[in-house]
Amino acid sequence: MTWVYDFAEGNKDQKDLLGGKGANLAEMTNLGLPVPPGFTISTETCRAYLAEGGMPDGLADEVTEHLASLEEAMGKKLGDADDPLLVSVRSGAKFSMPGMMETVLNVGLNDTSVGGLAARSQSERFAQDSYRRLLQMFGGTVLHVDAELFSEALDAAKKAKGTESDLDLDADDLAGLVETFKGIIREQTGRDFPQDPREQMDLAIQAVFNSWNTDRARLYRRQERIPEDLGTAVNVQAMVFGNFGMDSGSGVAFTRDPASGAQGEYGDYLQNAQGEDVVAGIRNTVTLADMAAIDRTSHDDLMEIMSRLERHYRDMCDIEFTVERGKLWMLQTRVGKRTPEAAFRIAVHMVDEGLIEMDEAVLRVTGEQLALLMFPRFDDEAERTLLAKGMNASPGAAVGKAVFDSDTAVEWAERGEDVILVRKETNPDDLRGMVAARGILTSRGGKTSHAAVVARGMGRTCVCGAESLDVDSKAGQFTVRDGETVREGDVISIDGSTGEVFAGAVPVADSVVVRLFEGEKLDDDLAQSVARIMAHADGARRLRVRTNADTPEDAARARRFGAQGIGLCRTEHMFLGERRELVEKLIVAEDEAGVEAALAALLPLQKQDFTEILEAMDGLPVTIRLLDPPLHEFLPDLTELSVEVALADERGEDDEHARHQRTLLTHVRRLHEQNPMLGLRGVRLGIQIPGLFRMQGRAIAEAAADRMAVHGTPRPEIMVPLVASVRELEIVKAELVQQIAEVEEDRGVKLDIAIGTMIELPRAAFLADRIAKEAEFFSFGTNDLTQMGWGFSRDDVEAAFFSRYFEHGIFDVSPFESLDQRGVGGMVEMGTTKGRETRPDLKVGVCGEHGGDPRSVHFFDEVGLNYVSCSPFRVPVARLEAGRSVL
Ligand code: ADP
Ligand code: MG
Ligand code: MG
Repeated sequence: MTWVYDFAEGNKDQKDLLGGKGANLAEMTNLGLPVPPGFTISTETCRAYLAEGGMPDGLADEVTEHLASLEEAMGKKLGDADDPLLVSVRSGAKFSMPGMMETVLNVGLNDTSVGGLAARSQSERFAQDSYRRLLQMFGGTVLHVDAELFSEALDAAKKAKGTESDLDLDADDLAGLVETFKGIIREQTGRDFPQDPREQMDLAIQAVFNSWNTDRARLYRRQERIPEDLGTAVNVQAMVFGNFGMDSGSGVAFTRDPASGAQGEYGDYLQNAQGEDVVAGIRNTVTLADMAAIDRTSHDDLMEIMSRLERHYRDMCDIEFTVERGKLWMLQTRVGKRTPEAAFRIAVHMVDEGLIEMDEAVLRVTGEQLALLMFPRFDDEAERTLLAKGMNASPGAAVGKAVFDSDTAVEWAERGEDVILVRKETNPDDLRGMVAARGILTSRGGKTSHAAVVARGMGRTCVCGAESLDVDSKAGQFTVRDGETVREGDVISIDGSTGEVFAGAVPVADSVVVRLFEGEKLDDDLAQSVARIMAHADGARRLRVRTNADTPEDAARARRFGAQGIGLCRTEHMFLGERRELVEKLIVAEDEAGVEAALAALLPLQKQDFTEILEAMDGLPVTIRLLDPPLHEFLPDLTELSVEVALADERGEDDEHARHQRTLLTHVRRLHEQNPMLGLRGVRLGIQIPGLFRMQGRAIAEAAADRMAVHGTPRPEIMVPLVASVRELEIVKAELVQQIAEVEEDRGVKLDIAIGTMIELPRAAFLADRIAKEAEFFSFGTNDLTQMGWGFSRDDVEAAFFSRYFEHGIFDVSPFESLDQRGVGGMVEMGTTKGRETRPDLKVGVCGEHGGDPRSVHFFDEVGLNYVSCSPFRVPVARLEAGRSVL
């Protein structure tokens, strides 16, 4: 077993073994860049250490060996009294966990070697500064002394000196601090700071291993979905010193702007500084351009190395470096994190620079990034007053009047006002209010809280866990930490992409990417980058992308966004509003004639709906799903109606209205179901009330005939929901076929209307070969299939127990958000295979929000579906991911 590797032994692809930092230090070493030498203790060692609760056998010897060759290379011994070698002990896991884990610098200094360092460097100040840094870092991270105690002592020393800058502390001040720090350590731990250099190093190594399991590291991994069992590597590296004086310094840099993706120099530099000083904000940093004025040579060396690293990694890199007395040293690099905008721009720029091919550019961006670019955003130029900052739970920019309960949210929204629902935390009772609101703001709960999960599901903007808000829903107000109060009706703005909450209305602008998709010609680099990536993805993909749309407006927009038809046109909303009354008539009808009359009244309205949608999607397929939800959803609420009737009875009212309400109540009771999701809905409605589906079929056929009469190219497809048995489909299909034939006869046209079914019940997936005898196409309804497969109702379970399920790792993402590939996906795969056994050219698609979820899109592509269908705003996301799935 090998535990330790020299930097010269590794390369950048060994992140599993060496961690990200170690692998890249090795890569830079082998590129011949100026990297202080050192070695990496592998992640395997960490796993063994954590499992055994101690250092594994053989490790100490290997460390001794590697230390010996490091000492030889440097011509110094660790902690030597006359000329000490100092090292850093640096954590470095496979995935970067910024600020989560420990690093200790200047290991090897003690009461003796600090003198040797001073003599060799001819700088007492530098030596004392290095020692006090070691005590501070070692005390905090290895010995777990409260870090505040050290920084308070440092502040006190500066105050005594009458200065704000650490640079004004001289050698004596720093030597005094060293004594103070040693005292703090003795007092807090009951032992002296270890003087033995090797003991310092070993303790620091263990501390890095232990830092894998701190609470904050665990929490971070859970949030970022980093596996728990990876462990971290430890890098031991010869120190170089940025705190040597003004000709030295420490810095961070990016090879391009990680925010915008623009080319150029981006970074911060701080003279006479070490390690974290640059990011800790102890003094003001300067830009790299300014650094050029301070130290031209180091700056130019850095530029050259940066461009070399970019060419080598063929990607934007981020870099940590140090200058010691005019010589540049590289201390870290990695492929840099970037915003979605930068991701698209950099990918395309790199194609133009000949660094990568278009295929790779498409793989370097994600559908999620594209989705983020499509949200409206607050106008950057506009003035704003920040009230608070919470978590960016669900993106978007929402402006509205603050309301503090769901009833008010619904009421105000109904009269046309934009509202933001503000709650301490939300629960299922708030659902109506969340639907009605433009955005949701809570003071409690994280990214998996009810508010966050539900808001993301609905695509509502949400900021959660804004802890500085004191929400008082009774009083209808919240107060901000500095005392400012926002009352019901006051306008606020929330940014779900940053978590910021602003007072008043911040102006909102359409994103340039949406304007691009809307067809605007834009001379904008981001828009053009997105356009090129989309064109390439479209050229590559197999999977077609349709949209879920119920209105001509949605259909038209989706078409502009690239939809190749409608995969799901729901008809239920067409029965709401003024038409509710017609549905009531249908339900309370006492005889056949009454039923026919009610249906006859609905027919022309339905036909109009379909004609408009067919027109918006002329030439493209439009899958219309027959009525699915239970009828009582179109009727008044049972409890409310019961109360109303009881009151009317008490008052002895017996006018026509009262009588009507009484009859209605008997029907509402009759239709009332304990579990409507499993009740009279879908195809069962068509069998129970045959006239209903007949009417819908006729409306579709007539709409198609009307479109042909004006030389359109209608391509409707009729989809029967919730089929479990082929017999159900057979019965309904026969009726539909007859309606279509009648219209053909009446109008003297030939209609081409396929009749297919949704596969959304496990039974249907199992019997798909039989169902395919009748069905001319399948569309998997993965929302219901998930509900029926897991046996839980989406509306109830997410709030009730999903957070526990996440905690226990039963799933790491809601199966409603991303397809449960093994279980529900297994049914999709089986249903597809079986269906095509019967009908080899069976067209198979999927509707439901999974159709726009990146991971799910890849799955649907891999199992050979013909198309996915998703909401208009997800259409570009699905196009991109379908392309990425092939490349
Ligand atoms: P993090 O993972 O938190 O960035 P690092 O291990 O990169 O921690 O260490 C933080 C900083 O410490 C580095 O950016 C660098 O400035 C400094 N540092 C680490 N090792 C050395 C070294 N051998 N010589 C000089 N500075 C170092
Ligand atoms: Mg670092
Ligand atoms: Mg369904």
